[in-house]
Amino acid sequence: PPGLYIVATPIGNLGDLSPRAAYILSNAAVVAVEDSRVTAGLLRHIGVKRPMTPYHDHNAEHVRPGLIARMGSEAVALVSDAGTPLISDPGYKLVRDARAAGHLVVTIPGPCAAIAALTLAGLPTDRFLYCGFLPPKAQARATAIAEIAPVRATLVLYESGPRLAATLAALAEGLGDREAAVTREITKRFEEAVTGTLSTLATRYADAPPKGEIVIVVAPPGEPEAASVEDADAALAEALTRLS
Ligand code: SAM
Repeated sequence: PPGLYIVATPIGNLGDLSPRAAYILSNAAVVAVEDSRVTAGLLRHIGVKRPMTPYHDHNAEHVRPGLIARMGSEAVALVSDAGTPLISDPGYKLVRDARAAGHLVVTIPGPCAAIAALTLAGLPTDRFLYCGFLPPKAQARATAIAEIAPVRATLVLYESGPRLAATLAALAEGLGDREAAVTREITKRFEEAVTGTLSTLATRYADAPPKGEIVIVVAPPGEPEAASVEDADAALAEALTRLS
């Protein structure tokens, strides 16, 4: 039926495209895409040709009304270059306006680098905060890190290879030297997850910026240190000296 279909696509391994995603892409009247070359490759993989229309940060305001109008009578699919649309990718305003216009909105869930990284990191998953990309400039980045520092949750951040070491060092500085995992090239040939404290990871990558796509996962802050018996004894002794 007509409406908006949010379609998750692979983050590396084309085998991760779900049969339902392939069905929707094969039958959509139009596929809204970030980069038509990337999506053309995916459509070729499933042996279909569909009309594509660009929908990205630079033209979204301009093309959104036309797409919303089409959803009244046609199935419009939204994909991003990789993974789940709307997750550090365009789309939420399209969903908002589609709903406001009374159109059907359907999601076809699938790969998402943040969730995949959580499954590789070996850190608590009961509470996590998705932080997307930190601001690239040092000052704004430090402010953003200070904001998330007290949050009692595992943190998930996207980063690029060239900025990885600086970001890890800034995280160690602002969060304390927590356990973390650097996951890279998930579902691809050189998939890896390297674990360690933020400072050891920062040192490891300082001279050798890694290639490929990266997700950083950081452990939640530790429990506040329980006062030890020695601390209590020392405090008592000090109090007694002040009394005498
Ligand atoms: N919407 C996508 C998703 O669902 O994960 C994310 C889009 S965001 C513009 C791209 C970033 O996602 C990359 O810079 C990287 O941090 C992360 N990413 C995407 N694919 C990845 C992969 N195969 N391995 C590790 N990180 C990946």
